[in-house]
Amino acid sequence: MDLKEITQLYDFTGKTIVITGATGVLGGEIACALLGCGANIAMMDRNTKLEADLVKRIDSTVGRVIVIYGNVLKRPSLEKCAAKIIEEFGRIDYLINAAGGNHPEATTGPQKAFFDLPEKALQFTSELNLLGTMLPSQVFGKYMAEQREGVILNISSMNALRPLTRIPAYSAAKAAVSNFTQWLAVHMAQEYSPDIRVNAVAPGFFLTRQNRFLLTDEKSGELTPRGKSIIDHTPMGRFGQPEDLLGAVLWLLSPASKFVTGIVVPVDGGFSAFSGV
Ligand code: NAD
Repeated sequence: MDLKEITQLYDFTGKTIVITGATGVLGGEIACALLGCGANIAMMDRNTKLEADLVKRIDSTVGRVIVIYGNVLKRPSLEKCAAKIIEEFGRIDYLINAAGGNHPEATTGPQKAFFDLPEKALQFTSELNLLGTMLPSQVFGKYMAEQREGVILNISSMNALRPLTRIPAYSAAKAAVSNFTQWLAVHMAQEYSPDIRVNAVAPGFFLTRQNRFLLTDEKSGELTPRGKSIIDHTPMGRFGQPEDLLGAVLWLLSPASKFVTGIVVPVDGGFSAFSGV
């Protein structure tokens, strides 16, 4: 293979990619990169307002984009999205399940014992991450099953490998996302086509809306004890930047990984490899 052929593996011109949670920090970064690689992107989110910076970056890319309202926990909403995407782009080739996160009330702390965490917050977190990955995989994956090709990419977490303290529902739900990634990879390959692949990335610690003030102090910007402990356990000595995810994401979507299915790739600055000693 020469350089031109290798580069072509990352040309997504004419491919339609649905990204859930696409107006979020990581989903937005991934959308920009794939637009730059020529893809048609359906940015689906419950919040359809794009940050000004994201609008500017999207405007300068080569692919086509639509931003649509969709709730990953409601099948009729997802079906409406699918119909709109087919009307706009004609097919659905790839799905990235980037909607997810933790509910602040589902976090233990000095004033909040595990025993008192509200059922609603536990349910919200479990459903958003697991059901919110399964339902879009059903609705959009069906198109891939009919076409006999496609790629689904899930977003797991470091919590899936070994749970972090304080966030029990999020940890358990992300472990379930990794488990479901393997299940669906086997199911799609055996029941529909070996050309339908399902993988996941497990990001380490990226400073985003959801965790910024758990890891850094809101006023001083200094690391919190939890933030410091994370950096101390990350051999590369820093948090991830959203663009650090892109290499793994592009590789898992592209035919460069055509014999790879059912894996979860850590993108974590070495966090998961380090014993702490
Ligand atoms: P984010 O909050 O910036 O983005 C999440 C997006 O999901 C938001 O735009 C939100 O509106 C959307 N969303 C929430 N509920 C939805 C619903 N019911 N239907 C549709 N959209 C919905 O978070 P992020 O940091 O970009 O995280 C993206 C993914 O990466 C999540 O699954 C998160 O758990 C995972 N992750 C993040 C980190 C990190 O350090 N930031 C680490 C590991 C994994």
